[in-house]
Amino acid sequence: MSVTVVGSVALDTVDTPSGENIEGLGGAATFFSLAASNYTDVNLVGVIGTDFPQEHIDLLKSKDINLEGLETADGKTFRWKGHYHEDLNVRDTLETHLNVFETWEPKLPQIAKEAPYLFLGNIHPAIQMSVLEQADQKFVALDTMNLWIDIANDELKAILGKIDCLIINDEEVIQLTGDHNIVRASRKIQAMGPRIVASKKGEHGCLLFHDDDIFSAPAFPMEEVVDPTGAGDSFAGGFMGYIAQQEDTSFDTLKRAVIHGSTVASYLCSKFGPDGLINIGPDEIAQRYQEFSDLSKF
Ligand code: AMP
Repeated sequence: MSVTVVGSVALDTVDTPSGENIEGLGGAATFFSLAASNYTDVNLVGVIGTDFPQEHIDLLKSKDINLEGLETADGKTFRWKGHYHEDLNVRDTLETHLNVFETWEPKLPQIAKEAPYLFLGNIHPAIQMSVLEQADQKFVALDTMNLWIDIANDELKAILGKIDCLIINDEEVIQLTGDHNIVRASRKIQAMGPRIVASKKGEHGCLLFHDDDIFSAPAFPMEEVVDPTGAGDSFAGGFMGYIAQQEDTSFDTLKRAVIHGSTVASYLCSKFGPDGLINIGPDEIAQRYQEFSDLSKF
């Protein structure tokens, strides 16, 4: 079964303790699509400017990602610039240039509307709602960020009432509820709508809340993290891609989906931009999945 993602396609400039990557391929929808394409058919809905390099389009096509919903608008592609501290959990946004993203009104092509699984990447909740109104998916997951919790809280809460799964960082779970206890806070979010909450803790893994159940997964312990940009979106891509492949949202499948999300996210972090996702396939995924299993078996 296929999955549709709606979100940013970007040119990212980042510097991390490992070096610098200037105007590399980025964006939430890009990382999600590359990760999910290991599991299932993906429809990418986004916008680029006329300056977007053809080689990036070729890469996405080489992964069989459907680009009917990728609109080219007059103007420049969305750009984001970030700086990572020695502690890679700390990131400063230096620049955000929305460019063509500013006036974009997503339009889902038929194939994207019909995909049973939908991921609403981190954009204004009102835009996420406009996408939801066009689609008729059976399972919808959503990402958001501190900015929207601050400035579009009502719109965010309105869409939370209409989705199945929220995938966010643990600080955002706290910010959204005002409760510093992650378990209590996640339960409060479930009461707002989504029966599934995946609360990511960066290098400390993920807690999955599913109805009354909880699953705790580690992150893969890595000696060198080169660039964590897009780790959250890659996690979401592996998670949703696996669910779509299995055509199942039971707790057992969701637990495995968390490990698949963590697997692809760990590969992503090992190189700059999306490079860590480009040369992985079923063998690398199976190997890391096994390593995850061995890591927490006792
Ligand atoms: P993550 O590391 O998972 O938070 O995702 C980083 C990606 O999000 C980068 O590739 C950025 O291009 C993209 N991004 C950063 N800010 C925004 C924003 N305001 N709206 C949409 N995408 C963004």
